[in-house]
Amino acid sequence: MPKVAVVGGSIGGLTAANVLRDAGCDVDVYERSPRPLSGFGTGIVVQPELVRYLLERTSTTLEDISVSSSAMRYFDAATGESRGEVEAEWRFTAYNAVYQKLLEAFDVDRYHLGHALSEVRPGTDRATAVFENGSQVNADLVVCADGGGSVARAQMLGVRSTYAGYVTWRGMVDEQDVAPATWKFFQDAFTYGLLPDGHIIAYPIRQVSPQGQVTGATRLNFQWYWNVEEGPELDRLMTGADGVRRPVSVHFDALNPSNLREFRERAAAELSEAFGDLIANAPTPFVTVVADCEVPQMAFDRVVLLGDAAFAPRPHAAAGAAKAAADSWTLAEALIQADGDVAAALRTWEAGRLRVGKTYIAKVRTMAAVLQHGGAFPAGAPEYKFGLPEPA
Ligand code: FAD
Repeated sequence: MPKVAVVGGSIGGLTAANVLRDAGCDVDVYERSPRPLSGFGTGIVVQPELVRYLLERTSTTLEDISVSSSAMRYFDAATGESRGEVEAEWRFTAYNAVYQKLLEAFDVDRYHLGHALSEVRPGTDRATAVFENGSQVNADLVVCADGGGSVARAQMLGVRSTYAGYVTWRGMVDEQDVAPATWKFFQDAFTYGLLPDGHIIAYPIRQVSPQGQVTGATRLNFQWYWNVEEGPELDRLMTGADGVRRPVSVHFDALNPSNLREFRERAAAELSEAFGDLIANAPTPFVTVVADCEVPQMAFDRVVLLGDAAFAPRPHAAAGAAKAAADSWTLAEALIQADGDVAAALRTWEAGRLRVGKTYIAKVRTMAAVLQHGGAFPAGAPEYKFGLPEPA
């Protein structure tokens, strides 16, 4: 089996590294960040593909990393009026819980921090990854899992994620941060707060320590999506207190105080009681732009794009990380079936993954068009159910 260099060590890269290592490949991971990733404790809806590695190949259980819920509830977030409720059994985890377990399952000595890809050189028999720190690696296969801002994608296809016209304010609260009635309101459910010009989602997750260990306590995680026109309005929001315009996220510590004030004032003034309490009282909210992109190709001789490095989806069907994990599993399965013949494996793999990526991007764009502009979003509508498209 081939020697593999995985570029990007988040959920896609680490799942790929684990499954390819298990398939007999000789795998190293090269991650840009100088320190292990934190994910800022934000929530992720559990999809089967996301946790498949942990459940099938490690001793981790769903109980260890997630909380369950039994309903999806829909409200008019401005008035608090119910718009319906359906039974739905979803589990919610935190980015860091999944990341940490995947990292533990891999070999930390082969997880190389501080390696930012600057160039990838595909070849018919070998490929090379070149890093900003001056090092480079040759491998039989280079797996680029370098996320929505993928350097590899930009270099090979000239495709970059484009701003989708809205941002998401994200945050978490603990029980003491909000009124008891608010805490109760958001338990045991995935809650939608629908608005004419945006929407809110909220759900419970487990607390994760800064070291990535899951603790017993539950917290509430939310996102509030605002339509913000590209140009001065977006620039103002994405410019930190230090005057620097951030391309993707402005974290709490860097937020311009006037933007934070506007966020809290809008939450208190425009939202009904429970939504307003949850959002206005989040101690450390932060803001992220929503962007997406699609690609016509995922395999380039001995280089592949995987996860958000290929199709970067908007978050509305809660399966972006699951898609990255599924890209990884199917890659390992294709290599095993082709008995290590990388070129043959990539031909089969790419056709299937392009279909999934295109279908998934189209689904979340449709959801965004409805959710961000006050369209009809009926409780339990099957076309808006979370998850990846069914395999062909
Ligand atoms: P990423 O997680 O983006 O990781 C890319 C990695 O590559 C990072 O570690 C980065 O540091 C590294 N990197 C970047 N550039 C370089 C470089 N030049 N060299 C080396 N390394 C590099 N998905 C779900 O499944 N469920 C959810 O509920 C969900 N909610 C979401 C909510 C929000 C607000 C957002 C924005 C996304 C959400 N997603 C969700 C999507 C999910 O976060 C992504 O789809 C998923 O993280 C993609 O994984 P990835 O490994 O492909 O890319």
